[in-house]
Amino acid sequence: MNFFNELTISTSFPVCYNLLPHYTAEGQKHAPLMNCVEEALSDGRIGSFFLSDHPAHPQEISSLQLAEDIIAAGGEPLISLALTFYDKNTVIEKLQQYCQMGVEQFLFVSGEYPAMPDNKQTKPAFDLDCVQLLMLLDELGISAGLKNSPEPKNVIGEEINIVKGCAVSPFKSLESEQVWQYEKLKRKIAVGADFVMTQLGYDIRKFDELVRFCTLQNITAPLVGNIFITDRHTAQLIRERNIPGVKMPDRLLQTLIQEENDPPKQFTRSAQTLAVLKGLGYHGTLIGGNSSDFSAVKLVLDEAEGFQSDWQNFLVDLDYSDSSFYYFQKDSRPGLNNNQPSPVEPKHFPYPMYSFSYFVDWMVYLPRGPLFKMTGRFCRFCNGRKFWHSSIWLLEFLSKGPLYGCKMCGDCVLYACGFLCYQSGCPKKMVNGPCGGSINGYCEVFPDKKLCFWVRVYKQMKGVSQHVTFSAPPIPARGSQLNKTSSWINFFLGKDHRKMHFEDD
Ligand code: SF4
Ligand code: SF4
Repeated sequence: MNFFNELTISTSFPVCYNLLPHYTAEGQKHAPLMNCVEEALSDGRIGSFFLSDHPAHPQEISSLQLAEDIIAAGGEPLISLALTFYDKNTVIEKLQQYCQMGVEQFLFVSGEYPAMPDNKQTKPAFDLDCVQLLMLLDELGISAGLKNSPEPKNVIGEEINIVKGCAVSPFKSLESEQVWQYEKLKRKIAVGADFVMTQLGYDIRKFDELVRFCTLQNITAPLVGNIFITDRHTAQLIRERNIPGVKMPDRLLQTLIQEENDPPKQFTRSAQTLAVLKGLGYHGTLIGGNSSDFSAVKLVLDEAEGFQSDWQNFLVDLDYSDSSFYYFQKDSRPGLNNNQPSPVEPKHFPYPMYSFSYFVDWMVYLPRGPLFKMTGRFCRFCNGRKFWHSSIWLLEFLSKGPLYGCKMCGDCVLYACGFLCYQSGCPKKMVNGPCGGSINGYCEVFPDKKLCFWVRVYKQMKGVSQHVTFSAPPIPARGSQLNKTSSWINFFLGKDHRKMHFEDD
């Protein structure tokens, strides 16, 4: 039985070993990692191994090779596939490489922004996000044409049954970050995510919040809590490297510094966390640390076995709550919430630019808008007439460039992003909600300098509703052929993601 199947069994609480987390990949070598696998398999409590397919790995570590060796040793790999460098075709090829060697379980993440974007080798693509990949896989899975494809090596056929996990961070500090995280989670589930794994975090109240949110939203996909055995050195590393989206609470860091001469305490804390996650209703856990052998994980599992019935007693010690926003109100018990949603910031008056854009959108893009037909006719007239086509392109470029920072991507989604342009506003081009990397509202690429694009979208949308949600359905991956073309013409010709059928009667 694989990790995912075990997650769905209420009496089971499977443990996946975080063998190759990308943030500690330096210094790790293939042979010691395989020793860990063999030790864990002979221990008998772990059968699944989490590997991050990430370009940050040193060259001597190939996730593909490691996955193959894990399968040969009798284990099962769970691959965390970062989409940073993949476009639609290359991600399918990559998935197929893994599938061909027998890998069935994946976690899809947007991936970090690479540290050296100027280097061509590390230039990110950010062509599709997790929501778009899930939509694409769904499309491929149901396409009869692909099932009979003469070139099955380029597609994932119906016989390949993969488990698709998604990540969420409940550990965000601000309302504008946290609400989007959960809205995006709803999107991921709606487009086919099979299980949910938390990003790395230490705030037990936030772990509890995610369980309550899923219950509130009828999300039944299994939840996997992420535990990283953390000593003082690791905690300081997380701080120094500013690992995107990972928040190291001050109080935990201070405790770890004080405990430096008492290393077993870090294992006890992780074992208590494991017991608490199980008590809160998580279905399984991902566990790992910086140690290059299995002993640390083994110690945690050994200790946790004796802790389960006492899990509520650990809440006081593990209460590192320090966020300014929690989705639910605080319970009288430490470290927990009750089921009452917290109040959110009040709605404000719409910003002038938002109102202007909304008005233009209503006039031109909605079929009931007064300029819809006329603009549609004109765009269709321009199509195929070089002079007029270039003129309309120039008009779009000259108007939307200064107003929105338009990059002429050819598939406009301003209407879905609070009339802000994700192409110029988000370094990772996240169009279906934020990545998990923001810290205190700031973008992971420009910490303390530039607000996360989706935090800005949230502020825009507070002008429309107090309870902000996505205003449009999920946006599928953009066709690269639309690059540098006119989104106006594409819209009225039905070439963009909205596939508008313009009838000129
Ligand atoms: S067309 Fe593309 S680049 Fe231009 S504003 Fe719209 S989303 Fe942004
Ligand atoms: S703007 Fe927000 S969503 Fe975009 S890369 Fe930065 S943190 Fe991620």
